[in-house]
Amino acid sequence: MTSPTQLSVVSERTSVPAISTLMHMALATPGLISLAAGFVDQQSLPVALAAEEIAAILADEREGRRALQYGTTIGDHQLRERLMAFLEQDERVPSGTYQHCVSRTVVTTGSQQLLYLISEALLDPGDIVLVESPTYFVYLGVLETRGVRVVGVDIDEGGLRLDALESTLAGLDAKGLLNRVKLIYTISEHSNPSGISLAADRRQPLVDLAKKWSKHQTIFILEDSAYRGLTFDGVEPPSVWSYDPDGETVILARTFSKTFSPGFKTGYGVLPATLLEPVLRLKGNHDFGSGNFAQIVLERAIGGGGYQRHVATLVERYRRKRDVMIASLVEWFGDGDGAVQWTYPQGGLYVWLSLPNEVDTGPDGPFFARCLERGVLYVPGTYAYADATGSAPRNHARLCFGVPSEADLAEGARRLSLALTDCLNP
Ligand code: PMP
Repeated sequence: MTSPTQLSVVSERTSVPAISTLMHMALATPGLISLAAGFVDQQSLPVALAAEEIAAILADEREGRRALQYGTTIGDHQLRERLMAFLEQDERVPSGTYQHCVSRTVVTTGSQQLLYLISEALLDPGDIVLVESPTYFVYLGVLETRGVRVVGVDIDEGGLRLDALESTLAGLDAKGLLNRVKLIYTISEHSNPSGISLAADRRQPLVDLAKKWSKHQTIFILEDSAYRGLTFDGVEPPSVWSYDPDGETVILARTFSKTFSPGFKTGYGVLPATLLEPVLRLKGNHDFGSGNFAQIVLERAIGGGGYQRHVATLVERYRRKRDVMIASLVEWFGDGDGAVQWTYPQGGLYVWLSLPNEVDTGPDGPFFARCLERGVLYVPGTYAYADATGSAPRNHARLCFGVPSEADLAEGARRLSLALTDCLNP
């Protein structure tokens, strides 16, 4: 007789990531056009640039040994210096401005690991995290694991609504719960899933607001800027982080998964001083350092300018795809002011589709089933709300234009519109 497995509370609280069910569907259904996977364009991966840098590293005996050895928990020093120099250019501040932040810069195994580590370092069951509504559903999974209460705050075309944030904080204060609020999570550029960015003129006020309400303990802002750099129109505003120069409130999370290679699985965080040691202790237990090889390749690619040239080609490629996606939605659903609406992303990989209120886009609803019959897959919007069982809207879908070819984007939009017609005229 075998005895039962007694899993930990954390393990029991961790549900199957919703997205993995979708991925299995995509693989199992021939001819399906997946607008679901939030992956990068396969054709755009920088194979030649990576080959060049890797060959150069391995051709140099000393550098080769360094790359193949364990590194440090905090990450490669040269890369961290390079990252702060890159950030100075990105923020258009004088060279050297952020060099004092090198000691607070931690390289992680994708930015997902940073999101996890921050949550592990800060959050106990019963703590409160404020997120955009809708938000990145994989992070909702992390928060669920930690047993925290997640409160959604409305967004509009300028991202997180600061009036809604303030009234949420005031409401929690009135209930005596402000002392449980630890974190505000925002995706500052071209959000996954909404495609919306936080407006330039909300960035400083957001920092001020978090500081103002940090009456009992610091309410940190976790600025996830996974899509920074992939901007097609206009100039990127300064980060939220740049308004917190002393590093007390804002945690900046970035990644090279979207702009270079998810296979490198390399991200980084610039942390407030008080979080540095706690995060490093936890990371020490997780992996005592991210893979050195990828870090050294990236350091060379950024230093030599190849990375920046690569990002410029990505922007062109994804802008075209965005244009095809939007033009196809216009072709099949009208001008976007009617019953079916969508966001117009100025970068990133996602369009957020809003269907008539009566259309339930959930995975068990009729629209999802009609879409599978028609051969198109999307991410149900319900995944992206903190309160998926309660009052959250059920008529949205996340469409990703990163992976499909331009022809498949057009055909995918056609199939979505056929599925909607099937659904509205059963
Ligand atoms: N944040 C957001 C908003 C994302 O969309 C992703 C990737 N889907 C990540 C973080 C994590 O990516 P990675 O761990 O590969 O850096």
